[in-house]
Amino acid sequence: MNSLKLCLLSSEIMPFAKTGGLADVVGALLPELARAGHDVCAFMPLYAAVRSKTPGLMPVSGLQDLGMQIADTKYVFALWTAFFPGTKIPVYFVDCPALFDRAAYYTVDPDEHRRFLVFTRAAIESTVRMGLAPDVFHCNDWHTAFAPLFLKTIYAEWPELAHTRSILTVHNIGYQGIMPAAAVGDLALGSFAARLDAGDRGAGIINPLKTGIKFADVVTTVSPTYAREICDTPLGMGMQQTLRERGNAVVGILNGVEYNEWDPQRDTHLRSHFSAADLRGKVENKRQLLGSTGLSVGAHQPLISMVTRLVEQKGIDLLFEAMPALLEQREFGFIVLGSGDERYEAFFRELARRHPGRVCFHAGYDESLAHLIEAGSDMFLMPSRYEPCGLNQMYSLRYGTIPIVRRTGGLADSVEHFDPATGVGTGCVFNDYDVPAVRWAVGTALGWFEDRNLWSRLIQNAMAEDFSWDRQARKYDEVYRRAVAGASNA
Ligand code: ADP
Repeated sequence: MNSLKLCLLSSEIMPFAKTGGLADVVGALLPELARAGHDVCAFMPLYAAVRSKTPGLMPVSGLQDLGMQIADTKYVFALWTAFFPGTKIPVYFVDCPALFDRAAYYTVDPDEHRRFLVFTRAAIESTVRMGLAPDVFHCNDWHTAFAPLFLKTIYAEWPELAHTRSILTVHNIGYQGIMPAAAVGDLALGSFAARLDAGDRGAGIINPLKTGIKFADVVTTVSPTYAREICDTPLGMGMQQTLRERGNAVVGILNGVEYNEWDPQRDTHLRSHFSAADLRGKVENKRQLLGSTGLSVGAHQPLISMVTRLVEQKGIDLLFEAMPALLEQREFGFIVLGSGDERYEAFFRELARRHPGRVCFHAGYDESLAHLIEAGSDMFLMPSRYEPCGLNQMYSLRYGTIPIVRRTGGLADSVEHFDPATGVGTGCVFNDYDVPAVRWAVGTALGWFEDRNLWSRLIQNAMAEDFSWDRQARKYDEVYRRAVAGASNA
């Protein structure tokens, strides 16, 4: 099949910058698409932290000292490039210190929308300047979600972009990038501003994500179940109608796992490696994990873990009541790595204070510890309120760390509830978002753990699962071809 010219736009790409799954997904998809024979490139902002730690960064000649007018401000930007590690895939970095030299990748500054507007337009216009003529811009989340509208309006007459289509992947519909309607001038749409959602503008807002959903040639999200949930339930967070109007242009594609990074047989963060055939290394990792976290849980006692952003979505509220009760009734250790909302951090700090030696809370972001936790734990808890895809449950399966998850989004699509009678299934899945359900699920998994034969079976089932990217990348291939084939949504 003929190859396509694909250009991915993202606010974060692993290994350059990461705050969550978005970076993992784009960073895994890029090399996979290149391996499939496509001509691939990507754009992301040149955050200050990225500039200082990216080796081989080179200025793109002819694309230095460029101006972009947004309302009454002229932003000066330049383009830099580096190869995606281990490949010849060019990643282009939009350098605009006025916008990207900030303490964090994302801010609540009043010009947050401008940061990504400049990024999006700079990326599109740079492809023209470099003569790249992509077949498809693959946009991700609200940050780049104006690109589909721009292509159909202000860039519609640019001959270099005449055949360029767009797809938008929604990684989490909870983040829509809403900006004040008064900032409409920043979009430089002129009379095309009439294409923006009139109801929203009447309500005083502009919704970048909704705009992308309306104008992208195809909209994808990161699991089939989440695709249904956001169309048909309140999990669509106000986007249900807009999504339903797109009909079968909305497609759910489960994320894959980058097994080069997440495989216990070759994980570079681990001192001891293991496989389904030889689990001795897993015992070693558990010993190391218990040692490094100061827990006094025995090697044969169950160890439950979480690695997560501490935000409402992740279902921590359920644990406020469930965890103290479970710790009272059952024997197990509990490790949490995460950072986020203060009330959740305070809860875990207090839980650890009350249960010294049994509960460890490690506040912060720590890639190596995340790997050791996956390798050394027995169970991985994700009681999410909603979960577009979720990656950790898939990592857990590969590490023989049994996921305990709520049946939502990608969790429902990647973990099958274990049936001890038949020996089929890979984890413990509960339905209702409430305290009894999570208590039941943890209690059930702890019960299975006590039966060594059952537990071994479960570990073998889990480790046999395969969520490789190559399969999922083929589904993106189909979507790109659908977008290129027409079905324009002007
Ligand atoms: P989300 O994108 O909603 O944060 P995902 O499960 O899709 O959730 O992806 C989360 C990714 O971020 C995983 O790779 C996970 O290991 C990582 N992660 C989250 N919090 C931390 C942390 N505190 N330290 C290390 N890695 C983390």
